[in-house]
Amino acid sequence: MQNLTVLGTGVLGSQIIFQAAYSGKQVVAYDLNDEILAKLPERWEYLKPMYLRDLPDATPEKLDAAVARISTSSDLGAALADADIVIEAVPERLDIKQSTWEQVGKLAPEKTIFCTNSSTLLPSDIAPFTGRPEKFLALHFANEVWAKNTGEVMGHPGTDPAVFEQVAEFAEEIGMVPIRIYKEQPGYVLNSLLVPFLDAAGKLLVRGVAEPKDIDNTWKIATGSPVGPFEIYDVVGMMTPYQLNKDSADPESREFAEYIKREYIDRGWLGKGSGRGFYDY
Ligand code: NAD
Repeated sequence: MQNLTVLGTGVLGSQIIFQAAYSGKQVVAYDLNDEILAKLPERWEYLKPMYLRDLPDATPEKLDAAVARISTSSDLGAALADADIVIEAVPERLDIKQSTWEQVGKLAPEKTIFCTNSSTLLPSDIAPFTGRPEKFLALHFANEVWAKNTGEVMGHPGTDPAVFEQVAEFAEEIGMVPIRIYKEQPGYVLNSLLVPFLDAAGKLLVRGVAEPKDIDNTWKIATGSPVGPFEIYDVVGMMTPYQLNKDSADPESREFAEYIKREYIDRGWLGKGSGRGFYDY
């Protein structure tokens, strides 16, 4: 599959576009209007130094060649006209996903395979809206796709196994390590492991069991992992765990949300990106 169309050019969409183009694919970037698409060159200039920093074989020439393989369109029909595969990275709202896929299902050629990058919705929530559920599945990327290069491939019960395999191969062609997920699982593999792990660390903290540094050190020394849970919280940023826990049914999770708001968010300490979180950077 050589021709990719990406729907939505925000944080993840722009990374997927650039990574696929860098891997030699022809990519059409679609978004709601031309003003949004006109900002994409700024995104490429933001991403290029990261490729040069993180990928030993990246060169300015290869990065320029990637940009040359990207075209843009705010006309959905035109954007889809020759797509072998579509990856959708529109906002994480079921109504937006469903209406987007309804339109795509009507406009895309017969050959096109449909993928969503949704983090929290299940493919079976969206499949009925696509008009071709057998060709619809999830291909889920992690933020900083060029370096954190898992490609979680997850269908719904109606996905054609041959299409599943084609998508896993496509993921590999664009530099991802394909993770084949054989049963629909909220959170895929990564977040099914990571979320309970981070929750457990937060609970040790609010129970007053140990300091973040000692909790991290326990994990790092005993398992050989390079990072502990509070270092991961700092990379994710404080707002995400706050939002996830503040209305939890579990009183300890709510206490953790209140703790990070009071001790960190209200002081402007939002994690590594802001220079301070559980650690000072
Ligand atoms: P974002 O808000 O940065 O970008 C969304 C883009 O979609 C914007 O460019 C917006 O203009 C566009 N858009 C809005 N409505 C649209 C429509 N109807 N049709 C086409 N484009 C539309 O969001 P994001 O963080 O890139 O997330 C996009 C998807 O990727 C979500 O499903 C999210 O769960 C998933 N995801 C995000 C991350 C992450 O770390 N941000 C990681 C993995 C997966």
